[in-house]
Amino acid sequence: MKSKDHLALHGGKPVRDSYLPYGKQWLDEEDVKAVTNVLTSDYITTGPVISEFEDAIASFVGAKYAVAFSSGTAALHAACFAARIKESDEVITTPITFAATSNSILYNNGTPVFADIHPQTYNISPKAIKPLINKKTKAIITVDFTGQPAEYDEIMSQAKKHGLIVIDDAAHALGATYKDQLIGSIADMTMFSFHPVKHITTGEGGMITTNNKEYYEKLLSFRNHGITRNPMKLQRRNEPWYYEMQDFGFNYRMTDIQAALGLSQMQKIDTILAKRREYAKKYNHAFEKMDEIITPFQQTYSNSSWHLYIIRLNSSKLKSGRTEIFKALQKENIGVNVHYIPVYLHPFYQKLGYQKGVCPHAEQTYQKIITLPLFPKMSEQDLDDVITGVKKVISYYSIY
Ligand SMILES: *Cc1c(COP(=O)(O)O)cnc(C)c1O
Repeated sequence: MKSKDHLALHGGKPVRDSYLPYGKQWLDEEDVKAVTNVLTSDYITTGPVISEFEDAIASFVGAKYAVAFSSGTAALHAACFAARIKESDEVITTPITFAATSNSILYNNGTPVFADIHPQTYNISPKAIKPLINKKTKAIITVDFTGQPAEYDEIMSQAKKHGLIVIDDAAHALGATYKDQLIGSIADMTMFSFHPVKHITTGEGGMITTNNKEYYEKLLSFRNHGITRNPMKLQRRNEPWYYEMQDFGFNYRMTDIQAALGLSQMQKIDTILAKRREYAKKYNHAFEKMDEIITPFQQTYSNSSWHLYIIRLNSSKLKSGRTEIFKALQKENIGVNVHYIPVYLHPFYQKLGYQKGVCPHAEQTYQKIITLPLFPKMSEQDLDDVITGVKKVISYYSIY
């Protein structure tokens, strides 16, 4: 066990010849055709396909409004802006997420305040949120981690009680349900990402859904430099060429090329969700009797969209730590990953003054977790390879 090479050599060849990534897009002929059609049309950006794609997402998740952005991160930035987060505002969020979640608070000069996670779901814990709410608190940003919705009954009622805005980072959760309600209209604003590893892709892209007209208009304006050409809204002259920049904003527009891809991808969303759920179930079944690893805990009232499948190592049953096991799985050509390093442990956040130890569950969880490959384009053989590889590596390091 001294050398890591020993393991892949131990049983001869690695379980797989080729490296299997942890996530990957699923593009087909229809997608290519949809993009090509836009390329030969009159508009390649801010044309008619943007609103078709927005309508498709809004109606899929059951929200009144949707606004497309150039990325999920841009969409989060916009949502924080629409929520009027500014200097001196505190925003409570989870450390077990991609840095973009809390960065979007910083973009608006607000202060991220990290609440610890529930030790089993790894989602932000309503109990941990409660003591952090004070006069400066403006909003809560939840993350539906791995595709499992956060605890919205408790979070929304705390928010209501204290007049806080809830923004849901649902980058993992397109198609997930919480108590039979689809993610997308539970929080005040919900963000979806269309990065290639997510459920559907536009290359880069994101969307905010909301039922609130005021937020909707702010989001539209923010996406386009804060500029309006609407004659009803202009403050001064009304010449035919006239437009006004009335608010702060960026160029965060999505192109029609991207929207066409997204719209085409939505044709497959049911198949994508079914495949992810089927594969997660197969992993659960394959690993449930292994004492050395803990399969993902699921609330019975939620239906995860299964963006990520994360196993937790049971250290008391293993002779080695996570790093050894992680490397051994890589040697089997299994594209393992870790989601996520607690955000406040990154050097940039440490420099801002965040201390180690503020979210003990998040830090302990981070030490034990490994993400296994899960994406709809995986074959049954790929899935079997991961299961075989995990069993091989875990039995090698098992105390039994
Ligand atoms: C992917 C992701 C984002 C960022 O989305 P981009 O489209 O890549 O900008 C934000 N939060 C979480 C949790 C994500 O997984």
